[in-house]
Amino acid sequence: MRKFILAAATALFATQAPAQPSTPPRLLVVISVDQFSADLWDAYRPQFTGGFALFAAGTVFRNGYQSHAATETCPGHSTLLTGDHPATTGIVANAWLNQSLTRSDKYVYCAEDEAAPGTSSTSYKVSDLHLRVSTLGDRMKAVWPTSRNVAVSGKDRAAVMMSGHHPDQRWYWDGKRFSTDVAGAPEPRSVTLANTAIQRLLAAPGEPLQAPPFCMARAQPITLDGSGRVVGNGTLARAAGDAAGFRASPALDGSTLALAAGLVQEMKLGRAATPDLLSISLSATDYVGHTYGPGGQEMCLQLLELDREIGDFLKFLDSTGVDYALVLSADHGGLDIPERLRLHGVTDAARVDPALGATAMGKVLGQKLGLAGPVLIGEYSGDIYIDHALKPADRARVLKEALAAYRAHPQVAAAFSRDQIARTPMPTGNPVGWTLLQRARASSDPERSGDILVLLKPHIMPIPNPTTYVATHGSPWDYDRRVPMLFWRRGQAPAAPEGAVETTDIMPTLAAMIGLPLAAPAIDGHCLGAVTTCPAGK
Ligand code: ZN
Repeated sequence: MRKFILAAATALFATQAPAQPSTPPRLLVVISVDQFSADLWDAYRPQFTGGFALFAAGTVFRNGYQSHAATETCPGHSTLLTGDHPATTGIVANAWLNQSLTRSDKYVYCAEDEAAPGTSSTSYKVSDLHLRVSTLGDRMKAVWPTSRNVAVSGKDRAAVMMSGHHPDQRWYWDGKRFSTDVAGAPEPRSVTLANTAIQRLLAAPGEPLQAPPFCMARAQPITLDGSGRVVGNGTLARAAGDAAGFRASPALDGSTLALAAGLVQEMKLGRAATPDLLSISLSATDYVGHTYGPGGQEMCLQLLELDREIGDFLKFLDSTGVDYALVLSADHGGLDIPERLRLHGVTDAARVDPALGATAMGKVLGQKLGLAGPVLIGEYSGDIYIDHALKPADRARVLKEALAAYRAHPQVAAAFSRDQIARTPMPTGNPVGWTLLQRARASSDPERSGDILVLLKPHIMPIPNPTTYVATHGSPWDYDRRVPMLFWRRGQAPAAPEGAVETTDIMPTLAAMIGLPLAAPAIDGHCLGAVTTCPAGK
């Protein structure tokens, strides 16, 4: 009997408090897989045998939330290592409009210095100046000046938002090579080697990937509405020198991970007296999703290859003997192409009505109100701006008419004014139940966000005519908000809490793991007790 009770008590304690290593890790490795939705994680999890399979044996939150409405790359990455929602980080979109800019392009890219002469939002000087808060790496360096804060990414904005204001090394793919905005230091040898190797890789054709039966089942050719393009059965092959094909293939992620491994070795990360942070953002999944949609053979090939690549990277980390802790999550999810969704019974899936474009809508409203000029500036959904050249009274008329017109459209779920969002208190608690207005509040800023926020109904793809990009994300719906949040450390018992958590919880959890006190101001996220021992009251 006593034995039975002991066994029962042991089992009980095992479920209440997973075994946790007693010493803090020396190296934190945070991986963001761009556009890796929780839907993809759920669908592919049984197929993984490499790096993702290792994560599946850690602490798995399959209901992680990028809980805000603006589910784009820059806002999403800004939540991962700051502990704050985009409304607090200031990164409310990939780009926002500033009508008082003196340059001709009035859009501001989230990771640029728009004051740099001769720049635009698409040809810019990379900068962290728009990020209003500190990252984990910034905070580590403030407490332990010898800690290293290193970021490697397929996109500049991901590297900037994950490392913040005080990176030691920050390298991102610029379309031709890995480059940096961190001035002064000599280029590490691993960067030179990686760039040389990539030039060779790019110069050669990319062979088609061999689809296993699981992927072949998804190889259904789909002709896209309004264009002759066929997707679904691609093999991610590319011609010699095809840089766009390179980035929409596992070769970009493999190169990013190879560079990360090189920097771990060269900088001896995790082997100093203070802990180090390595942030890695893997962008190819996002490019594959945009180019082919996330529901076909192409995404299957990408994810199985990425599984193998991450596995190789983790084997390399093991070979260094460093005690590391891992996190893997995503900046947002994604929506599949409506043409394929409809075949699978999602009958409301459609491409957006071109009449919802800000230019088209502004033209109609301008004629109705007798106003010249663009009237509205923006895209098919998200932030819509009213032309500041209009008189205040006319701007008020445009706002009233535009809100009514958007709200009356059958593809629109909601249209909110800037004031309406600003009056909404910042939401807290379980993100599953947040209203659309609360989701909007978590990614809005009175200076940067639009005069109107337009949210399309579920399964409405805001790309009217598919060309290069056929699918995207950016909605307030769970296919774009819900992402996996996976924690792994050697010696930690597996756990799979079902409850909802937020990506803003990652930073305080990692801070607790390495014993980093979080100085004021308070952050939006909370330390996760299922992963580590949290400080009292956090
Ligand atoms: Zn993204």
